[in-house]
Amino acid sequence: MIKLHDKHFKPFISATEINDAVQRLAVEIANDVGDEIPVFVGILNGSFMVVSDFVKEYPKPCEVTFIKLASYEGVKSTEDIQRLIGLTQDLTGRTVIILEDIIDTGNTLAEVHRIFENEKVKSLKIATLFYKPEAYKKDFKLHYVGIEIPNKFIVGYGLDYNGLGRNLPEIYQIKETQHMTNLVLFGPPGAGKGTQADFLKEKYNLVHISTGDVFRYNIKNETALGMLAKSYMDKGELVPDQVTIDMLNAEVEKNTDANGFIFDGFPRTNTQADALAKLMDSKDSQINAMIALEVDDEILVERLLSRGKTSGRSDDADESIIRNRIAEYYDKTAILKDFYSAQNKYFGVDGVGSIEDITVRLSSVIDGL
Ligand code: AMP
Repeated sequence: MIKLHDKHFKPFISATEINDAVQRLAVEIANDVGDEIPVFVGILNGSFMVVSDFVKEYPKPCEVTFIKLASYEGVKSTEDIQRLIGLTQDLTGRTVIILEDIIDTGNTLAEVHRIFENEKVKSLKIATLFYKPEAYKKDFKLHYVGIEIPNKFIVGYGLDYNGLGRNLPEIYQIKETQHMTNLVLFGPPGAGKGTQADFLKEKYNLVHISTGDVFRYNIKNETALGMLAKSYMDKGELVPDQVTIDMLNAEVEKNTDANGFIFDGFPRTNTQADALAKLMDSKDSQINAMIALEVDDEILVERLLSRGKTSGRSDDADESIIRNRIAEYYDKTAILKDFYSAQNKYFGVDGVGSIEDITVRLSSVIDGL
């Protein structure tokens, strides 16, 4: 990850991939042009790198010239294209190929066509290393395209953000998500994760996702997911990974504007932890900490049995199911301590005491992150 001015950018297209695309363009164009000696016209500033690499790959004689246009302000392409240096040589009767670093809205390309309107060139073709189809608003034909990219701001390989980044040999993409705080609240059943999450979500303005709650909601509403989950939950077993992961992904996607998440009851297996890391990565984010509430087994059984008297949860009513849930935790879930410890993200907190005292302990971990 890199920072240019106030924005963060993440690696997007490697130098090797760029090189491959430039080579492909050079071969394709050379084949089409035949014996003509083309004039390649680079559009400054951005195209200086691609033009330089392209002509080195071009296997036959050619000429090179530049025009200089300016369209970007910050990270936005503007309608107002300034012509800073126009054509400086007569191109009458010549085969001209425009070499662009990137085509997004097509505004610069419109200006290029205006420049060539009255030139009596033999042919005018457009080649671009990068192309954003979702942003392109014009009808001009693009004859040669290196790599199609999504409509996100990029820097590097000649492209800049307010002057910086042109010298980077690879392409970086802007990181759009605001900084998120994502916590995994961890611990065996009955450790108090749900109770504490209710306080922490208010205090830190986070979205609380409890996979157990989502399953129970689905059971109550008799959805297909609920029916499937019930057969496992009734025995105190874990719901299969893929079912749980798909559900969790969907819950996260419902909250695109979140400042961050408290994951409660997820992940419970290594596969789920890997899936969560991938999901966070797709949001340009990560899990900041796993905070574990540590409570002795016998206290857990006592707490769950007493919760079962009022919660209506069938898996809290029966001691053997409770013990099975705790056994599932040690068997399948407790190993996640190692997963997050290896990343220096594991924080154990004593989960015995008053609710307020435990909230204070958890908050001091979060504030220290
Ligand atoms: P909880 O409310 O977190 O105690 O979860 C209640 C039950 O829901 C568990 O015993 C499992 O059957 C199921 N469950 C909740 N979260 C998960 C998960 N991450 N993976 C698999 N099963 C889960």
